[in-house]
Amino acid sequence: MSTGPSQAEIPAGVTLPIYMDNHATTPLDPRVLEAMMPYLTTKFGNAASRNHSFGWEAEQAVDAAREQVAKLIGATAKEIIFTSGATESDNLALKGIAEMYRERGNHIITQVTEHKAVLDTCKRLEKSGCRVTYLPVKADGTIDLEDLRRAIDDKTILVSIMAANNEIGVLQPVREIGKICHERGVLFHTDAVQAVGKVPLNVIDDCVDVASISAHKIYGPKGVGALYVRRRNPRVQIAAQIDGGGHERGMRSGTLNVPGIVGLGKACELAQENLLQEASRTQCLRDRLKTKLEAELDYVHVNGSMEHRLPGNLNMSFVYVEGESLLMGINDVAVSSGSACTSATLEPSYVLKALGLGDDVAHSSIRFGLGRFNTEAEVDYVAAKVIQVVRHLRELSPLYEMVKDGVDLTKVQWAAH
Ligand SMILES: *Cc1c(COP(=O)(O)O)cnc(C)c1O
Repeated sequence: MSTGPSQAEIPAGVTLPIYMDNHATTPLDPRVLEAMMPYLTTKFGNAASRNHSFGWEAEQAVDAAREQVAKLIGATAKEIIFTSGATESDNLALKGIAEMYRERGNHIITQVTEHKAVLDTCKRLEKSGCRVTYLPVKADGTIDLEDLRRAIDDKTILVSIMAANNEIGVLQPVREIGKICHERGVLFHTDAVQAVGKVPLNVIDDCVDVASISAHKIYGPKGVGALYVRRRNPRVQIAAQIDGGGHERGMRSGTLNVPGIVGLGKACELAQENLLQEASRTQCLRDRLKTKLEAELDYVHVNGSMEHRLPGNLNMSFVYVEGESLLMGINDVAVSSGSACTSATLEPSYVLKALGLGDDVAHSSIRFGLGRFNTEAEVDYVAAKVIQVVRHLRELSPLYEMVKDGVDLTKVQWAAH
């Protein structure tokens, strides 16, 4: 009888704990910190100060960052509005458009696996007279384009569909969605937080009108983000949600976070320089992890499409194991489980439930988020550790034993309690 998992060997070059939760946030790239440093120290000017060099210096830095952000997504600098992060960007996009286009209509279309920054904003808008359609997703996590076409009516002003999901990494068909929206004269916003810098995104080719970006998901600092707002074909108008001075073309007042903005700019530049190489490197790591887990464990499956997926995402269910117990067993590895993501309760993730997963399978899921700083040695350690802990937990699981003995659990008559 085993008394517990033995220690997985720690390979050379691996330091614990290992960070593999890059969808929650990413470490700051040292090159980003280096670019920010002067603006946290000697170059402390207010970018709105027009009367002296401190202000001009800050303004120049902000302008350069605006170019860097714009370039990554195929936009122009004037189309970039800096915000405090993507939660604010999502709020500004949805509320700002709902308010500005009220005369034209009050109908918004989104989908069920959006980030809470979009879903909660939609709920608030429903209270103030908007009608919101929440499209379902297919078992692979993507929306059905026919559902979208059918949902658009003459009161529809906006479609908001994320480019990549933060839990299952599934990529929505952004370009097809954009085309449908443009054909029907409806604005298209995409929460592009997880996609930007990881997979190619071009606002012209992809027919995107408004897009949310966050620095801390692309190796930049926390507390800064951007909203892309298209200026022509069509020119998008957004009602400000924060008043006070008219910064950012009147769409977002407040003294600019100059060091943060410089960091976001640098993060975008770095992401663009290496986008394809980095995507293929992260994908190799992800596939290595997946192959190892699938080779050694039975009753595991990937949640969401493997074909339309972020290179660094692996969301896997280890059936007959509680995700929370697995997390505790691998406590020197930082990952997320499919429960309790957004609340203190142990509710299974609404994203996994939207794919049609049962509560038990959703509860047994783990999200691995691989990124720029993960190594092959780390992947090997994590794979070995997960295999060991899952095997151990299953040894303790009566359900797993029954399944192994050939019992069909769906036919078992459980005693009532
Ligand atoms: C992290 C995230 C957000 C929120 O971004 P913040 O900058 O942390 O406010 C919004 N949408 C998605 C898809 C995210 O992953």
